[in-house]
Amino acid sequence: MATSVSQSDSPRIIIAGAGMSGLCLAIQLKRSGIESFQIFEKSSEVGGTWLDNHYPNSGCDIPSHLYSFSFDRRHDWSQKYARQPEILNYFKTCADKFGIRSFIQFDTSIEEAVFDEAAKIWRVTTSDGKTHEADIFVSAVGQLNRPKIPQLEGLDQFQGATWHSARWNDEFDPTDRDVAVIGNGASAIQFLPGLAGQARSVTLFQRSPNWIHPLHNYRYPGWAKFAFRWIPLAARLHRGWIFLISEGRFIAFANGENFANKEYRRWLTRRMKKAAQPNILPDVIPDYPPGCKRILLSSDYIETLNRENVRLVSRPLEKFTSDGVVVGDETIPVDAAIFATGFETTGFLQPMRIVGRDGVTLDEAFHPRPKTLFGVMAAGFPNFFMLYGPNTNLGHNSIIFMVECQVNYILNCLQARKNRQARAIEPKVEAVEQYDNRLQHKLNATIWAGDCASWYKNAQGSIVNNWWGTATAFWKQTRRLDSTQFLFE
Ligand code: NAP
Repeated sequence: MATSVSQSDSPRIIIAGAGMSGLCLAIQLKRSGIESFQIFEKSSEVGGTWLDNHYPNSGCDIPSHLYSFSFDRRHDWSQKYARQPEILNYFKTCADKFGIRSFIQFDTSIEEAVFDEAAKIWRVTTSDGKTHEADIFVSAVGQLNRPKIPQLEGLDQFQGATWHSARWNDEFDPTDRDVAVIGNGASAIQFLPGLAGQARSVTLFQRSPNWIHPLHNYRYPGWAKFAFRWIPLAARLHRGWIFLISEGRFIAFANGENFANKEYRRWLTRRMKKAAQPNILPDVIPDYPPGCKRILLSSDYIETLNRENVRLVSRPLEKFTSDGVVVGDETIPVDAAIFATGFETTGFLQPMRIVGRDGVTLDEAFHPRPKTLFGVMAAGFPNFFMLYGPNTNLGHNSIIFMVECQVNYILNCLQARKNRQARAIEPKVEAVEQYDNRLQHKLNATIWAGDCASWYKNAQGSIVNNWWGTATAFWKQTRRLDSTQFLFE
């Protein structure tokens, strides 16, 4: 998918993050002959979210044959929805195979990046106190990297163990212990069944219910792996089929509560009613349309809520005591509390301080909501690009596909900058406004605009995380540059 950029006069590029998107850009730069880049990664290993989220049974709800790079397809995925160790191993292997590790400085985060208007370069300050110069600065830190822990009363006095799902406590053995889980999102539903099988009791605090779609996971038999490896096009066709099925799901999200959405809701309700015991049923069926918040895939979450040692609490956790949690008049003794409360999703690229033209920071420019060109570029920030930036998230297909489109777009920008012998490329304010007007118009029609609270929206209720359409629509719009949208200096 990548556009090639010719070798000579390569710009100096600094990339923040060696997760999926940072690796994707690095690999495609290298494949197109550019090796003048450096990656700064806060952790000691590649993998980003797949390094952080190593809680038990962590995995991806997009099939692995699609949740992988188009330029490095694997024929030997063990199962349809691979678990975290296999996914992390895939990214580590990509880093090795494409020779990316030597470009990465691990255990170093980027704290600040300031655009020098006169020199048309970025000065990037890292956590080791050094300042680096680059022609191009790319953020590849994604949308889901800063764990969110609510500041609940008494939490500092609680004597038990506490941790966030994305910082799993591997030391804690839940056997015969009482555990509270706060939050019932995509992460909680994956580790809850295993936890409930080990712990004496689990109390799950649910702020609002989620629509649960069956996962239908299965292991690939040997003959299938053989076919993917040896039969021409078999793996490609399989990947293409998964892509088409995923795109088809968007029909239920495109236009509010349309016919497809209502039918889907009826189907999900029937499935969930079948799975849930009557005592929990009123608490597990959402009162908003499916898709408004991310639909969760599981074939054992509701069944776990039926267990005798699991208690679903649909009232807010009011406070902690030294050895328990308080709900109404009741104190529930617990040995540990796990926060599966998601991530800070709307303060894009924080805590990095990014300063563009005229001393304007990205936080200021993105207030009250981010306006960008394809979630990749922002007006006032020359030679600056984002991967998995604002309004590029999906609720129905692979984010890796979206990131590959963005990488292709960046490579096209670098080529255009080079062709024009420009020192800076930046989107025009009018182009960003025009793009944003259409984006908002389209987003307002989607199911995410419905009456539910979700991490897709900011405090003002604007949808700031999701793209408005199919992944194919994003590909179509980003595969070529419209050079009239840019200022070249
Ligand atoms: P999440 O889906 O945002 O869920 C957070 C949960 O915590 C929600 O139930 C939320 O309730 C609750 N919560 C948040 N703040 C709270 C508070 N102050 N008090 C009580 N409850 C609170 O977070 P996540 O489970 O970590 O997943 C985040 C995203 O990561 C997912 O949407 C997905 O994109 C990605 N992810 C993907 C996979 C995968 O299979 N691909 C797996 C895990 C995660 P409300 O619902 O009421 O807000």
